[in-house]
Amino acid sequence: MRAVICHGPRDYRLEEIPVPACGPGEALVRVEAVGICASDLKCYHGAPKFWGDANRPAWAQTGVVPGHEFVGEIVRLDDAAARRWGVAVGDRVVSEQIVPCWQCRYCRRGQYHMCRRNAIYGFQRHTPGAMAQYMIYPAEALVHKVSADLPPAHAAFTEPLSCALHAVERAGITFDDVVVVAGCGPIGLGMVAGARAKHPARVIALDPIPEKLALARACGADLTIDPREQDARAIIADLTDGYGADVYLEATGHPIAVPQGLELLRKQGTYVEYGVFGAAAAVDWSIIGDDKELDIRGAHLGPHCWPAAIRMLESGVLPMDRICSHQLPLDDFQQGLDLVSSGTESVKVSLLPS
Ligand SMILES: [Zn+2]
Ligand SMILES: [Zn+2]
Repeated sequence: MRAVICHGPRDYRLEEIPVPACGPGEALVRVEAVGICASDLKCYHGAPKFWGDANRPAWAQTGVVPGHEFVGEIVRLDDAAARRWGVAVGDRVVSEQIVPCWQCRYCRRGQYHMCRRNAIYGFQRHTPGAMAQYMIYPAEALVHKVSADLPPAHAAFTEPLSCALHAVERAGITFDDVVVVAGCGPIGLGMVAGARAKHPARVIALDPIPEKLALARACGADLTIDPREQDARAIIADLTDGYGADVYLEATGHPIAVPQGLELLRKQGTYVEYGVFGAAAAVDWSIIGDDKELDIRGAHLGPHCWPAAIRMLESGVLPMDRICSHQLPLDDFQQGLDLVSSGTESVKVSLLPS
């Protein structure tokens, strides 16, 4: 089969490799679509080691097949796998991006997205990803059925949408909240849709690109702001009697979006960080305690949010034709990476390996 192989930063190659062997309790899946994520790009460019964390890899292991947001059709599986997941040959299925160990403290407590092993498809050799014609869903994987009526790229959007919905859950939104979403890429758009589904007073989206703000309105934003052209602080102060926003969801990964959030929030507001940063953000931490007594929460992956993400995609509420802006054959993976890298002309770029 054909597969993209990571040979190191900026050195991904399309190669011919054997179709993976399907072991006991596993499924062999024909990949229909795989999205390219900002984190794939970070690996591709050889992200620097994270500050203070010597265990964090500088980039994906060499020899690995990248791709962690995907959908495919089951080609082969045994009775144990069929029973465990409630699926059959021919079903269209997604797998959650993390393959939990089910042994560590986090897995045993239901916090499987924090799994100590952190085996995410497409980053380590023992969990090859989806930029290939076929892949294996290991026995420990979390597998969900998706309607065959969705276009493949839309079905593969389950992964980023589940992440966005988890960030929304972390925010604990209530009916009276004014919610601000910073960044209208795939995750930010999912946050807008998720926040809208919680029926707060207002959902406000921030982004400097007009097309992305238009998409945010289509996803449920009541108001959009270009923070480079407009005074976001003044607009939000006007809408909130001068208090500020109740919730700030950060999905840009730009260091400037951190002080922006601390500034836009009211006292005792909630800040949720989902962004993956390429550089350190410098902020005055006294805002968090002394000034505003803020709740600062992180969000990682999309635990327990996959069924909701699938329901939302199947319901048709999202403008998926516009969100899934580019679909390319596997042969054009380099063009796909470059499109995501340049950032402005695409929203979600997907490869269609079969
Ligand atoms: Zn991703
Ligand atoms: Zn674990």
